[in-house]
Amino acid sequence: MRPLLDMDVIQIEITNACVHQCSNCTRLVGHAKKPFFMEMDVFVNAVDSLIDYPKMIGIMGGEPLLHPQFAEMAEYLKSKVPDKIRCGLWSTLPKGKEKYAPIIADVFGNVLLNDHTLGDLNHSPVLVAAQDTVTDEFTMWYLIDRCWVQNCWSGSITPKGAFFCEVAAAFDMVFEGPGGWPVEPGWWKKTPKDYVGQMNQYCVNCSAALPLHARQDTEEVDDISRRNLERLTRLGSPKIKRGKYTLYNRGERNKDYHINEFRNNIEYAQKIADKYDLQLTPNKIGYFQPFLNENRVHQDTQDSNPSLAVKQPV
Ligand code: SF4
Repeated sequence: MRPLLDMDVIQIEITNACVHQCSNCTRLVGHAKKPFFMEMDVFVNAVDSLIDYPKMIGIMGGEPLLHPQFAEMAEYLKSKVPDKIRCGLWSTLPKGKEKYAPIIADVFGNVLLNDHTLGDLNHSPVLVAAQDTVTDEFTMWYLIDRCWVQNCWSGSITPKGAFFCEVAAAFDMVFEGPGGWPVEPGWWKKTPKDYVGQMNQYCVNCSAALPLHARQDTEEVDDISRRNLERLTRLGSPKIKRGKYTLYNRGERNKDYHINEFRNNIEYAQKIADKYDLQLTPNKIGYFQPFLNENRVHQDTQDSNPSLAVKQPV
């Protein structure tokens, strides 16, 4: 486990609605009876709590462009955090939301694009509860303490509070947990000694830290252990009702486990960005920065959109 200040990003999760229902989604998409959409005043408070956070503020989902107030939220973020290198967007750039291209180029200095069309992306199980799988408690906590998600990804804010881990936040939302920490200035100064309550609540029911076999994302099937299956069934999970799960029985993964480094694959990201007439350029912190293609700038300028200009990289 690492302090929140050691992370590159803290995510604000504005919805868990998505255009996909990938296998073993880290947001447990498909299990909530109804997706949430963060209220504007909650978003404002989330941004305000992070103004002094020195790293990146990510806008994420689900698919954040499905939020009906996405444009308003992006504009608020820009008004409080005008330095684009501190603003990131995680998206599939879904069909039908191309109108957001100008605001994406205007607000965000970083985009992480994944529309799950790469064909060889695999997701490790998250719903195989560690406490039901690892019989030795010391080993379970040893693995959890080294969880790659918490050590590589982000803390998170949802409508239910702030969390040390984005997957823990998803567990809290879908399993109707007690909520996170109050979202107040400086909450992001917490360190692993502050995580114990959330770890006891969420990590023991999660399997991200366990070396389990991953499944191709496009299968849309979740690997799950019996106790989590029973809990989700009780909660009325639509994905369970549709039978898109399997009880996990595949043991530990092979040592030659393959990790697809799609985040650095500019050809893949650019193919997604092309759908929105956006051009991607690597920036100084290793993400891709979006710019409007010149033909789009010209077209939108003719449409008298005052917010457009060709931008310099951050
Ligand atoms: S075990 Fe799950 S909840 Fe705990 S840190 Fe890892 S991903 Fe987050």
